[in-house]
Amino acid sequence: MEAKKIRSTFIEFFQSKGHHFVPSAPIVVKNDPTLMFTNAGMNQFKDAFLGNEIAKYPRVANSQKCLRVSGKHNDLEEVGVDTYHHTMFEMLGNWSFGNYFKKEAIDWAWELLTEVYKLPKDRLYVSVFEGDPSENLEMDQEAYDFWKNIVPEDRIIMGSKKDNFWEMGDTGPCGPCSEIHIDLRLENEIAQTPGRELVNQDHPQVIEIWNLVFMQFNRLADGSLKELPAKHVDTGMGFERLVRAIQGKSSNYDTDIFTPFISYLEKKSGKNYGENEQTDIAFRVVVDHIRAISFTIADGQLPSNNKAGYVIRRILRRAVRYGYTFLGFQSPFLYELCPLMAEHFGDIFPEVRQQQDFIAKVIQEEESSFLRTLDNGLKMLASIKTELSEKGEKVISGKTAFELYDTYGFPLDLTSLIARESGFSLDEKGFEVEMEKQKNRSRAASESETGDWVMLEEEVGVDFVGYDFLESQSQIVKYRTVKEKKGEKYQLVLDKTPFYAESGGQVGDTGWLVSDEEKIRVVDTKKENDLIVHFVEKLPINPRIPFTARVDAAERQLIMNNHSATHLLHAALREVLGEHVQQRGSLVNERLLRFDFSHFSKMTDAEIQWVEEIVNRKIRENIALGEKRNVPIEEAKKMGAMALFGEKYGDFVRVITFDPSFSVELCGGTHVPHTGQIGFFKIISEGSVASGVRRIEAITSVAAEKYLRDQESLLKEVQDLLKNPKDIRKAIESLLTERNELKKDLEALHLEKAAQVKKGLLSQFVDQGDARILVAQVELPNADALKKLAYELKNEVENAFVVLAAAVDGKPQIAVILDESLIDSKGWNAGTIVRDLAKEIQGGGGGQAFFATAGGKNLQGLPNVVQKAKEQFL
Ligand code: ATP
Ligand code: MG
Repeated sequence: MEAKKIRSTFIEFFQSKGHHFVPSAPIVVKNDPTLMFTNAGMNQFKDAFLGNEIAKYPRVANSQKCLRVSGKHNDLEEVGVDTYHHTMFEMLGNWSFGNYFKKEAIDWAWELLTEVYKLPKDRLYVSVFEGDPSENLEMDQEAYDFWKNIVPEDRIIMGSKKDNFWEMGDTGPCGPCSEIHIDLRLENEIAQTPGRELVNQDHPQVIEIWNLVFMQFNRLADGSLKELPAKHVDTGMGFERLVRAIQGKSSNYDTDIFTPFISYLEKKSGKNYGENEQTDIAFRVVVDHIRAISFTIADGQLPSNNKAGYVIRRILRRAVRYGYTFLGFQSPFLYELCPLMAEHFGDIFPEVRQQQDFIAKVIQEEESSFLRTLDNGLKMLASIKTELSEKGEKVISGKTAFELYDTYGFPLDLTSLIARESGFSLDEKGFEVEMEKQKNRSRAASESETGDWVMLEEEVGVDFVGYDFLESQSQIVKYRTVKEKKGEKYQLVLDKTPFYAESGGQVGDTGWLVSDEEKIRVVDTKKENDLIVHFVEKLPINPRIPFTARVDAAERQLIMNNHSATHLLHAALREVLGEHVQQRGSLVNERLLRFDFSHFSKMTDAEIQWVEEIVNRKIRENIALGEKRNVPIEEAKKMGAMALFGEKYGDFVRVITFDPSFSVELCGGTHVPHTGQIGFFKIISEGSVASGVRRIEAITSVAAEKYLRDQESLLKEVQDLLKNPKDIRKAIESLLTERNELKKDLEALHLEKAAQVKKGLLSQFVDQGDARILVAQVELPNADALKKLAYELKNEVENAFVVLAAAVDGKPQIAVILDESLIDSKGWNAGTIVRDLAKEIQGGGGGQAFFATAGGKNLQGLPNVVQKAKEQFL
């Protein structure tokens, strides 16, 4: 069965059992401070599990893009080395939200694997949680009994908390699980060792394929477990592993998910997969990583220097490095795999097809720049080796290895490999010490501890009223303490709030919570999944009384101006530059708006001006805001709204229009009622952020007004400096003309002076054997003049040897020039001589054997230079 068919069969099977299919959530996580990337199918349903939100469908099935390269689940170092862990993989899942529980989950899993996919029953093992006294958890007897009905008891294995108790992170929903493992070894191997002994022993052919999690608890920050209000089922089956089992392969990479990519690389590299362990690892690393990189870029995460972007950059570099070292790719190659990505994954994940060119461009750019770094690092490593050899040493220090890692992105194994190739060894312990030091430094910088929520009211979901009101009567539902280096801060959730929580690029509102007794400042508002969390610096004296929640209206007004202007800008850019312009990122705050968009060349001044004109015209047209809430997503798309990649949209969306024929966007932000309120729009910069992505920064209303006023006063100051001429431009032009003429005159004067100086010097040469020697102190306008003078003297006098101690524009310089014949006959070297003389002016220099110069600090030393040279040569 082909991979595609295996995937669709899974979905259809669960649809037939009353499940609703939902698309994969983006791989890059937003609005969840505990997670950077989706690492399991359940992430997108976290709120439903926690009871923050009521699930739309009680039964769901999906295929979720997952990435396990950071945090609690990090498989990066295994990937490529083994044949069944990937960085990015698809997790097939079926879900019950307070609906069915263990029995159905177990029965259906077995039915699908053995009756639909026809996997042999005698190769399958299942595991059950054995309990854990330290947590007061009992064995999962329920699951055991259900399994017993369908599987012989000697195929049921009891598992410890490590393997059979699933937790998403340090806190959050969790529960016992039952895993299904498959033994894919050859018959003769099975005859020797029963598969049962190899389950969970990291055997590459006896692997876990499916995990059925029975979500029963919530793990709190203090480590304790609390029963969840309703029980859920969360299952995750690694698609790539399933395909391998069904296709009867001994490695995930031998399935049709990966073989087209491996074939391409074989052709390109001229090497064959399956011939050598080192190159095989490289093949696997590359074909695995290209998926992770493409999917994350498609979801809007560009490689960068920090956080999620840095994780992506590291994955990409790992692929480039393996390709470079083991497959012989010295120039960008990864990006060439993008068309294959589009072809093989475009049906189920359309984002990689739709953005194919863009993804390729970003990857190519990253590859080129890393290859340059790699090259520099290799050069640096070479010079370190030479240095060590000269000292007779053979060990590269941990510090050096760490520096290579830190600044050049050289992983330890690469440095160690290169070192070994030329007979060096590497102090790996020293490297670990440096690494640990750095970790401690960054840990100390970012440490904070978030406590559990303290509940004050029954939780019924948050009512956001901020589209219509800037004030509401609210009650604190729950709060928690965040301990930071600088002290304690607090986070509050209100039953009802006008505060907009940071999202979609728009910053969170600030404002106050006001009661008769006090006024508490809200410094920021952020989303945590679907909760709106208010950040305050102190807790109310009595948190149980009602408060007036009041948004800082003046600030919000400025934010709305900038947000609505962003929509106008987006539409104008598409009009001026073309339909390929797509939003790639945005920031809207009270000071400015920043808009990143796909476009491949720098905007011209005329284009920028044109965009400004359109936006300002739309502002003057005073277009009324069109706001529609709860529009079915399909209808919104018909209206012309564009969904952004990497955004998670529900089935119902909010649509914002400013003239439906001009600007239609899916947007949760806050906007001006009429565009006239924006006042005025001005672009202040346009530049590049990444390959194929441009960034515009612009300002509106008061900020734009101030900007123009500042420009005006600058002009006024210039005018004053020029003594208020009638025509400023003419005044500056004539100033420049005058300046050029003066410059010419001055140059002529310099030449004349130099000629005179030279004439004087020519008469001062002294014959000394077969050399004609001149040592003199001179004054010259610039270094060029000194060089020119030295060369002329040498050319005009036969067998010349000249030492000039010069005051050049107030600084001491020395030039030594000599006829080439003297280098051999006298053994003189201008470089050596100048360095010695330079000591007198506290300086240094060098050059060639016939001509060298030096600069210094001590002008008073020039006579000493003359004296020293005369003593030595005359
Ligand atoms: P393993 O012990 O093999 O690393 P796991 O216990 O980490 O697996 P789960 O967190 O239970 O796995 O994830 C559910 C399923 O997802 C697994 O049964 C497996 O099929 C698949 N899976 C997990 N990690 C990976 C990975 N890195 N690459 C591919 N598939 C994976
Ligand atoms: Mg794992």
